[in-house]
Amino acid sequence: MHQDTIAVHAGHAPDPVTGAVAEGLHLSTTFERAPDGSYPHGYIYSREKAPNRSALEAALAALDGGEDAAAFASGQAAVAAVLQSLAPGDHVICPSAVYYGTKKLLAQVFGPWGLEYSIVDTTDLDAVRAAVRRRTTLVWIETPSNPTLAVTDIAGVAGIARAAGARLVVDNTWATAVGQRALSLGADLVMYSTTKYYGGHSDTLSGALVTARRDEMWSRIRLMQSSIGAVAAPFDCWLVHRGIASLPCRLRQHTESATKVAHFLAGHPAVEATHYPGLPSHPGHHVATRQMSLFGGMVSVQPRGGATEALAVAARLRIFTRATSLGGVESLVEHRKSVEGPESPTPDNLLRLSVGLEDANDLIEDLRQALG
Ligand SMILES: *Cc1c(COP(=O)(O)O)cnc(C)c1O
Repeated sequence: MHQDTIAVHAGHAPDPVTGAVAEGLHLSTTFERAPDGSYPHGYIYSREKAPNRSALEAALAALDGGEDAAAFASGQAAVAAVLQSLAPGDHVICPSAVYYGTKKLLAQVFGPWGLEYSIVDTTDLDAVRAAVRRRTTLVWIETPSNPTLAVTDIAGVAGIARAAGARLVVDNTWATAVGQRALSLGADLVMYSTTKYYGGHSDTLSGALVTARRDEMWSRIRLMQSSIGAVAAPFDCWLVHRGIASLPCRLRQHTESATKVAHFLAGHPAVEATHYPGLPSHPGHHVATRQMSLFGGMVSVQPRGGATEALAVAARLRIFTRATSLGGVESLVEHRKSVEGPESPTPDNLLRLSVGLEDANDLIEDLRQALG
């Protein structure tokens, strides 16, 4: 079955009791036992398993071609569940171009807890190979990366991880399963902030993991999910599941508009650099073309000048809203350095654009007047 059809139908069925076509919302935390003490519907208590979560997890797994999926209360909770499944003394390879929250979890939570880690330029396969240690159990990559859109060769790193006996996790938040099938490229796990494109409307905080196999590591991750309990709430599951139905359509439109916006910016005299994997000038364009079916809706731009000039451009934008996050229907702009802090390697003049579903010509006119 094609992915568009899976997106609409996976995890959905008319309700057998009422015939309702749209999915119901089940807020119950507890479920009735049969007279013999069994649980005929498979649900006991909602931290362990809940109807809207099970439906969403089925859809997430189907969309990525994985064996199973787990939904969490945020993207960060999903990252944490992976790291919690490791043991103190294990070594993790983490990209230098990565969501700053992932690095923060390693530095401030899991480093002190006993995980060893190396920050590596994962766009360079030799650097990844050189970073492998005896106790390397996990290689984390994020491609394209937040916010510089660095592209890592998923199949290349998968080969290195396999040879080292380590698992490969791909943070696929920016590309989604529609733009990039990380499991089929050799990843063991895929991670999402479903807050972004999966939800698609800037109104749910949630995260997910999808696994290629139900193996021992997956059992540990399931244990972290149900015993620590950072699970996605029923309404968040309902919203993300609804978002999935239109995700393929939305991502195609986001990509079409982002491509136009990126080409416009790349040709503008007031722009120092434009980062978009679909641009032939992007250093990762060749790898991106091989592993992505859609380049996605995120574009980063460095207007000429420093932070002050970049902030002034953001201030002049009228259609783009100045706000963090991404992947919603509305276009957003954010000066990343002021969110990530002075330690961040993100350039001072970088503006991150989440290209929404408005008409691309209107977005380009808005950028034109703002760049002056
Ligand atoms: C937003 C984001 C996260 C964190 O997800 P939350 O839902 O905010 O916890 C992780 N990775 C990437 C690439 C993101 O954009």
